[in-house]
Amino acid sequence: MKSYDVIVIGGGMMGTASAYYLTQEGLKVAIVERGDIAGGTVSHTDGYIGVSEKQPGVDSMQGNESMKLYDEMRKTFDYDFEYSTRLDGSGEPCGFVYFCESDFEMEAAARQVEANQKLGIEQYLVDAKELKELEPNCANDLPGGMWVPKDGAVCPYRVAFGFVEEARKTGLLDVYTRTEVVDIKQDPNTKAVQAVITAKGEEIAAPNIVNAAGVWGPFIGAMVGLEVPIEPRFGQLLVTEKTGPISQYRLALEYGYYLTKFFQDGERPIPELVKAYNVCLNFTSDLTGNTVTGGCRLFRGYSIKSEYRIMQACAMRAVRFYPVIKNYNCIRSFAGIRPFCLDHLPIVSDVEEVPGFYMACGHEGDGIALGPITGKLISQYVTGKPLQFDLAPELAWKRFEHVDIAALKKEAQENTEALQAIERHVLAQMGVN
Ligand SMILES: Cc1cc2nc3c(=O)[nH]c(=O)nc-3n(C[C@H](O)[C@H](O)[C@H](O)COP(=O)(O)OP(=O)(O)OC[C@H]3O[C@@H](n4cnc5c(N)ncnc54)[C@H](O)[C@@H]3O)c2cc1C
Repeated sequence: MKSYDVIVIGGGMMGTASAYYLTQEGLKVAIVERGDIAGGTVSHTDGYIGVSEKQPGVDSMQGNESMKLYDEMRKTFDYDFEYSTRLDGSGEPCGFVYFCESDFEMEAAARQVEANQKLGIEQYLVDAKELKELEPNCANDLPGGMWVPKDGAVCPYRVAFGFVEEARKTGLLDVYTRTEVVDIKQDPNTKAVQAVITAKGEEIAAPNIVNAAGVWGPFIGAMVGLEVPIEPRFGQLLVTEKTGPISQYRLALEYGYYLTKFFQDGERPIPELVKAYNVCLNFTSDLTGNTVTGGCRLFRGYSIKSEYRIMQACAMRAVRFYPVIKNYNCIRSFAGIRPFCLDHLPIVSDVEEVPGFYMACGHEGDGIALGPITGKLISQYVTGKPLQFDLAPELAWKRFEHVDIAALKKEAQENTEALQAIERHVLAQMGVN
């Protein structure tokens, strides 16, 4: 039987990042992936990295820590993962601009800016004139927005491949693709993990096993008796023909994107179709010259089927904020599912009741940003070294010890039903079945 110091289940962002940092500690690691490296959510996404899409506090600060690691990676990795820098050639991260559409959004953005500035994060509120100077192609009627100069972008699946290639240089990494984990063997007395059992019937042994299975994390958790509160949250994106850099900073979002993520959107002044599918603008001028735009947040189970009307709603939102985009054709659309942890924070830690078992999942719409800090923390949990991020205990599995997971699931179900009711109501009003 093959044996390792650590087995990482899942070759997505969290799995490859964990494997990379574990090999840097001199540990012999296997990634066991049921499909291919980067075949899961990490290749159905866009690549924003930074702090501004996160709630001020532990959430934004973990983004801040991860950006420091991305900065290290871009200097040390031979593998190019398309870290985007500013068009002015300064080498600074490309930055994010946010568009507000109402006073309600301006006030919410002002509160976020104030809270993050207190944490030492660079983030500014901008008025209508400043916004237009930052982003000349945006619509003329916007009251203002937010500017986050240190946020950036990468090519998500290239980051995952980069982690694997860099880890391989140590000679300490084996990668098993097309290998599904179907069970985990534990010591009957101590519950300590001993091996994974694959669909091919083989056992691969390790005293440490990392659950980095993203939206499928609950199935891996159940193998060791844990109820993991993660649900799939659907998102869809559109890709246009080549447009060149319409956004000056490569990245732009409407502020409603942030609010919707945390169910704080209130009354957005939006067309019915956009409302039906809970669509908000995110807009990336890709390095290849194409524009990637979307997106939505819905609960559709594990489906990643693109839907035609969501494409229409995404296109409407793009034209609303960047009128010039209406002159271009869309060439494709794709969808993915975010691993949404029901208390809005990822789970990154050891698990006291299952010795040797670690969790690195539940990163919702932030897994690309948070891959490096998650991998680093997992390597520190496994080796017992001090955690490099002060607030890491707030991300630990232990936080669920006294939490009523059934109540969290009920709340999530109510949110899902509310969204579905809006969708049905709006479509009925439009005469769409
Ligand atoms: C439309 C969209 C836009 C997004 N935009 C951004 C963004 O701009 N910035 C950002 O930071 N985040 C973004 N995200 C979120 C980000 O993509 C995810 O948080 C991230 O990809 C999750 O990575 P992961 O490694 O946890 O999961 P995955 O990439 O899904 O990896 C999990 C892996 O586990 C494997 N697996 C599952 N079960 C088993 C098993 N039993 N045995 C073996 N292998 C198994 C799967 O095959 C998969 O490869 C977006 C997501 C979507 C859908």
